[in-house]
Amino acid sequence: MPGFEIFGDEERKEVNDVLETGVLFRYGFEEARNNHFKAFEFEKKLCNITGSKYSHLCSSGTAALCTALCACGIGAGDEVIIPPFTFVATFEAVINVGAIPVFSEIDETLCLDPDKIEDVITSRTRAVVPVHMCGSMARIDEIKNFCDKKGLILLEDSCQSIGATYQGKSLGSFGLAGCFSFDSVKTITCGEGGGIITDNKNVYEKADQYADHGHDHLGGADRGADDHPIMGTNYRISELNAAVGVAQLNKLDQIIDTQRRNKLAIKDAMTDLPDVSFRYIPDAKGDSATFLSFFLPTEERARQIAKNLARNGAGSPYWYDNNWHYYKEWHHLKEIKRSGKLAFELADNLPDYKNLLLENSDKIMKKTISMQIMLSWTDKDIENRIQAIKKSFKG
Ligand SMILES: *Cc1c(COP(=O)(O)O)cnc(C)c1O
Repeated sequence: MPGFEIFGDEERKEVNDVLETGVLFRYGFEEARNNHFKAFEFEKKLCNITGSKYSHLCSSGTAALCTALCACGIGAGDEVIIPPFTFVATFEAVINVGAIPVFSEIDETLCLDPDKIEDVITSRTRAVVPVHMCGSMARIDEIKNFCDKKGLILLEDSCQSIGATYQGKSLGSFGLAGCFSFDSVKTITCGEGGGIITDNKNVYEKADQYADHGHDHLGGADRGADDHPIMGTNYRISELNAAVGVAQLNKLDQIIDTQRRNKLAIKDAMTDLPDVSFRYIPDAKGDSATFLSFFLPTEERARQIAKNLARNGAGSPYWYDNNWHYYKEWHHLKEIKRSGKLAFELADNLPDYKNLLLENSDKIMKKTISMQIMLSWTDKDIENRIQAIKKSFKG
């Protein structure tokens, strides 16, 4: 899956453009920068790829989520519904803007279950943030319909799914805004970086301002002439990181093609294995194929297969025990361990994170194994992997 596997001359050329001018800042310095605007160039490409009107880059996917939440008007005391299978960054971003993360069940898409969201809605609910995990999609049309019906903001955490589509439409483009991550283990990488997409001019302007201390960027070449319509912070991306992203984004189609081919070869070889079923993908054609996720009939069998795969050189995450991606191991959230007091703690009736129980999600995650699909696999690597998988199912 990761762009880091294919770092090459194209990335070096883009970075050198920046190094030759010495202008590492995305704004201003017009005379010195030799017309290189890597962050702007990346944003334009991101709009084209996702079919979005606007995009804004940030210093990370987490920063993009925080910025998008703020830009959508979500803040202190608002409840934001998120899934328990994600990366910690999703709840961190919600807490960071003073809002309250509320967890709702996943289904066999491994993403938020549209049929269960209603159960956790309160008078404080403002937004739903589905996370398109492991390169594939939630039942996003149903989630969108639900949000529209209830008057809730839909913000997609598409950090793991650049290049994936549902019915031909880019993930991240279904709600008011969508976010991507370009950290070093994502499908494409800037080293560190993230992006927001939206079709809403106001959301775009607020994001553009918030991520740069509230600057409206209307002062022309003179940054000091910018106004500050809102208070913000610094979530800017540097030109060096954006330059890497420009080269990587140009390779996206090739990356997705390779992932799909490699995934299909493994999946085809697994179809006659006993007791295996596959993650439900609402639109298989739109899968970006970063992972092959499959189910075993029981927790015991899944644990055994995961252990066998690791022993046979085909180690694959068993997410149920993973402390970055599944709520069961988020003890820092459950105990609200932090350095200084956080705004969301001031709310009345905070959810009981410590005793949080999501039975459906547990049932699904207990039987799930996900195999990461790599770009650099040769035909021989794939053949070896298939043999390792077959051997793992015999034990
Ligand atoms: C990686 C990731 C993020 C955060 O991205 P960073 O760029 O690492 O800050 C957010 N959500 C999900 C689902 C992710 O996988």
